[in-house]
Formats: sequence, structure tokens, C-alpha cells
Amino acid sequence: MQSASIDRVLGEVDRSRDEIVDFAARLIRIPTINPPGADYEACAAVIGDQLRAHGADVQLLPAIGRVEHTPEHPRINVIGRHSGTANGPAIHLNGHFDVVPVGLGWTRDPFGGEIEDGKLYGRGSCDMKAGLAAAVFAAEAIRRAGVAHASPIDISGTVDEESGGFAGVGWLAEQRIISRERTRAVIIPEPFGVDRICIGHRGVYWFEVIAHGRIAHGSMPYLGVNAIDGMSHLLELVRDELGPALFGRVTTMPVVPEGSRHATININGIDGGQPVDDIPSPCVADRCRVVFDRRFLAEEGLERTRAEIAALVNKAQSRMPDVKFTIEDRLIFEPTRAPEDAPLIGALTDAIEQVTGRKASLVASPGTYDQKHVARIAGVTHCVAYGPGELALAHQPDEYCSIDDIVSCTKVLALAVLKLAS
Ligand SMILES: [Zn+2]
Repeated sequence: MQSASIDRVLGEVDRSRDEIVDFAARLIRIPTINPPGADYEACAAVIGDQLRAHGADVQLLPAIGRVEHTPEHPRINVIGRHSGTANGPAIHLNGHFDVVPVGLGWTRDPFGGEIEDGKLYGRGSCDMKAGLAAAVFAAEAIRRAGVAHASPIDISGTVDEESGGFAGVGWLAEQRIISRERTRAVIIPEPFGVDRICIGHRGVYWFEVIAHGRIAHGSMPYLGVNAIDGMSHLLELVRDELGPALFGRVTTMPVVPEGSRHATININGIDGGQPVDDIPSPCVADRCRVVFDRRFLAEEGLERTRAEIAALVNKAQSRMPDVKFTIEDRLIFEPTRAPEDAPLIGALTDAIEQVTGRKASLVASPGTYDQKHVARIAGVTHCVAYGPGELALAHQPDEYCSIDDIVSCTKVLALAVLKLAS
């Protein structure tokens, strides 16, 4: 890449600083809260209009066929393509525009898009409407600089990442809109910070265990079989045996925060026996249900993870033979990891050094995000996350994103995309 082209692109990003922030603030002012998936249509339209104004070929894509796509809460995705001088697969920038509910503790209007002290505030500012704005304006800076690129550049805004992404990136991948044929590499500007590239994430095994007992009068518990008592044996095994074993396993993936380099399990919820808030009826609990969230390492693999849980449940079963235990899978995502020699990691690393003067670090995410759909359904393994914002501020009250970081990330994205698309 010629240094004159680089300078022109960086200059265009600097000149569009206010436009980028204004666009991000406009997105924040649309309360695309998920659940239930509010105002998606309005947000997709604003992104589509902006991309169209930038000369992109824009399509609004309702997730037809998905159960979540309802007349009340339509799931509308948007994609814009800046064509290149050659055909062939595109460099794709993808951002989700749904946000989690507001929660308590805010001192500002969560949907005001307020700016103060160089920070843009609001729900979704860091996760990840600023990143989406950076993606849109990275491509625009290349266009305004008049620098030709061979590969097309795709920009998509998608729904439902916060609830699994099935009607968003998952759906685009199923429709082959993101696919090996159409897509060479994908960058997702999730908030990992200006100098960190996220190469992937751990796996998820979400399951529930149900203990089935036998009902009897609470005054004669020996005539029944208490399912909660049965479940307590399993919980004890999880705490005393599985927990320490998981802590002893550490992945080679650079997961941040470091505590999540270990395999983990969380008890997400428990439910059993008589309803606590209703009029009490004295019965032996005949059912107890627990939802577990097991995050597993690439080194562990899904099969071993499931077999280990099944063995643990069997052990609980043998301690309390009258209770019957069943396991039901809820949600499974395999770990994903971009190959470290993928050209997009090199391009981002170089661009980060050029823009910030700092060395890039590679990290991995404790939780999953849309990379799983890109890698598993679309088959595009060359996918990473890179975008503005501090991960720790995501989903918090008074969420904000530094404006300097938004601009720096826009520059990095523009240089990396240009290199990859040249
Ligand atoms: Zn996000």
C-alpha cells in the first residue's frame, strides 16, 4: 500500500470525526432493546440510509423463517456492499445493533446519546453501536480518499446477538449471505479496545438437570421421594469434585479476564417443590430442575464435557437411587479460534501499530459472540473481533465509549480493510 493512500484515508477519518460520533449517537437514540427486540426496523433503516448515502448497494433482510421474526418484533438485518474493481469474495465488517435492557443505576439518559468529556454515553455505546459506526465510516473513508480496492467491502448490521444471534448473523450465514463464496474475512467490531484483537471464544454447554421424585404429604416425608434432596447430591458433586477439576484445566487461548482461562461452570437457576410465594401446600418435592452454564475449553472439547456431566449425574443417581435424573441440552456452541496466521490478524496488527504506535495483543473472549456463526455455519474461519470500547463497560449502567478510541478504531479498520481488499 502506498503511503500517500494511507495518509489520505487517515485524513478522511479525521475529517469525519464529528460525523462518526453523530451517527453512533443516532443509533444509540433508537432503543433496540433485546429482549424483546424493539425498534429493529427503525435502526436497520437508519443504517441502510447511511450506507446508501455512502454509495453502497443496500439490502434490508428480514429473517424470514425464524420464529423470532414476528409482526410485532420483526427481525430486520441490513447489509451494504461497496463493490471493488474485481469480483470475488468480500471483506466483511459486521456489527450487531441490538442492546441489552437498561438495568438500574444510570445517572444519564440511556438513550440520549450524550457527549461529555470526550465520551459518548448510552446503552449500546460500547456494545456495540460505536463499533458499527466505525465500520461504516472506515469503508467511507476509503471511498472518500478515492483509493481503489479490488475486493468488495460488505458492511452488515444485524439483530439478536445478545440472545444468540440466530435471526442475525446465524441467519445471514444460513442464507449464504455470509459464506465462503461471498466472504473472505470478517471483522466484528465488538468492544475489545483499540489495541486488542480477539481471535475467538470458549465453548458453551448449557444444559438442565431434572430430578424426578415422588410426591407425598409433607408431614410424612418418608412416604415420598424428595427431588430437591436428590438434587442436593448433584450440587455437592459439582461444588466438591467438578469445580476443582475444572479449575485445574487452563487453555492456551489468551482469554481475558485471565480467570476465564480456566474451564468454568455456573449454576444459573434452580426451581423445585412448592412455589415459594404461593399458599403453601405441604408436599414432598417431586421435581427439581437446575440450569447449568458450563464454559468449556477448546482443549476439552464438547464430547468430553458432556460425558463428564453424564458421569457426575450418574454418581448422584447412585447416591440416591429412588430419584430419577434426566439431562436436557439447552444450547451448545463449540469454541472458535481464527488461525493465527490468518492475513486479517496480520493486517490488523500492522494497522494498530501504525495508528496507535502500540503493539497489538491477541486476546480471546470468555463468552461467545457472533463469530461462532461465521465460523460454524458460514465456514469462514478467518474472523476476529476488533473494535472500540472497554469490554468491562458492556451491559453496565452509564455505559460509554471514548470518542478518541472510536476514531482510532475507525482508522485501524480502514487501513486493515484496505490492505485485505487490495
Ligand atoms: Zn456485543
